[in-house]
Amino acid sequence: VTVVELDFVCDVCGRQVEDGDGSLYVRDVDLQVARADQSEWQRVHGGGPVSIGQLMSFPPDALWLIHHDRCRPAESDGYDIAVEQVRTWRDLVRWTAHLMEKSWLPSTNWAALIGGAAEGRNHRIADVTRHGDAA
Ligand SMILES: [Zn+2]
Repeated sequence: VTVVELDFVCDVCGRQVEDGDGSLYVRDVDLQVARADQSEWQRVHGGGPVSIGQLMSFPPDALWLIHHDRCRPAESDGYDIAVEQVRTWRDLVRWTAHLMEKSWLPSTNWAALIGGAAEGRNHRIADVTRHGDAA
């Protein structure tokens, strides 16, 4: 029996992504932009105290996207995790441990993504047990 704890919802069409039909991924181009902008920001502001206003100017992270393969825009090569590889909370922790070895991870919104999923604040990654079938 395959345990399924997590559902993924496509950012384009809003439907669930079935196994083999799509990925959670971050685009190479978004990652390059985020890393370049953030390292430039560090170069300018890294040396001394930073004001709140300067912190607010910190360049945005690259965003993890959820798309069916058929909904995925062209020119969106990136780092892919097929949805069937991350169907349980344990999978998500395993992937997090793996991704933490990547120097680029802090330039993505992974922490916000999994934090939001854990707290049930986002329905892009939804805990299937929260769907209320039992109610
Ligand atoms: Zn879709």
